[in-house]
Amino acid sequence: MSTETKTTEVSASSAQVSATLLDGKALAGEIETALRLRVDAIKAKTGRTPILATILVGEDPASATYVRMKGNACKRVGMDSIRVEMPSNTTTEELMAKIDELNNSQDVHGILLQHPVPAQIDERACFEQIKLEKDVDGVTCLGFGRMSMQESAFGSCTPQGIMHLLHHNNIELAGKEAVVVGRSAILGKPMAQMLLNANCTVTICHSKTQNLAAHVQRAEIIVGAVGVPELIKSEWIKQGAVVIDAGFHPTDTGGVGDIEMRGVENIASAYTPVPGGVGPMTINTLIRQTVDAAEKSAGL
Ligand code: NAP
Repeated sequence: MSTETKTTEVSASSAQVSATLLDGKALAGEIETALRLRVDAIKAKTGRTPILATILVGEDPASATYVRMKGNACKRVGMDSIRVEMPSNTTTEELMAKIDELNNSQDVHGILLQHPVPAQIDERACFEQIKLEKDVDGVTCLGFGRMSMQESAFGSCTPQGIMHLLHHNNIELAGKEAVVVGRSAILGKPMAQMLLNANCTVTICHSKTQNLAAHVQRAEIIVGAVGVPELIKSEWIKQGAVVIDAGFHPTDTGGVGDIEMRGVENIASAYTPVPGGVGPMTINTLIRQTVDAAEKSAGL
């Protein structure tokens, strides 16, 4: 599958604009092809198969689907996955003990704790229990801190996948005004930090931000990471901005993101489709970072 940049020639009222479609699905497919070769090389060299352990606590159907998709992605590149399922009344101590077991297993290269976990569990404490070298989902404070300080660590998968998509499409970041709407631990905060590390001037907006429109109107790079359908209006987007939408909300006609995308191809210089932009890059990054971890543990 080729990931040649797709360019849509469109006529805007004021200027001729070429909007680049940031095609995450195509890029993820291309990366998987390369990962298969790396997995084969690990197997040939060590006689062992890279393994991602996924932990699902409780029976949330959406979480079960995500875990299944992650297991399928492992299979596609020739990796194995261990699927740990724990009952919804699991305690923090029981979950931490299971994480320790996986931390200590020579066979496991990466650990994914599917979030959210049931309310009685201290989710943060359980994330922190994951060993840095197996934190392929980039959820620990230590990993976040090291990433922020530009030391080696696995980045949180969704923002790391977005950075990959931006770099792959040669989007210039240095000196750009970036606005990230959302400040969650897994998405908004690491996204802002990664853009800062790429020399953007970064603003982070959240639910207490005054006059969101005014911040978005300044943005040359805009990331929607709010979880509210079409909260960010297309009329706020500056001509020539790069528009990244992490949200997905199913609708009768397919789905919408956190950004109103109507007419965005006439305004943006580049944008992620919804779906098919950010989503495929998230799981792809998890698998890629697990292969990185397996290579590192094998001394490759
Ligand atoms: P989250 O934990 O619910 O965080 C949402 C953030 O948005 C919070 O920081 C919140 O501010 C802010 N916010 C909410 N309403 C706002 C408003 N009216 N104005 C400005 N900011 C507002 O969500 P998340 O996990 O980061 O996810 C965000 C989006 O990304 C969702 O659409 C989710 O589905 C999507 N997502 C996609 C992937 C993927 O793989 N594609 C992965 C993860 C998330 P406060 O901090 O002040 O509450």
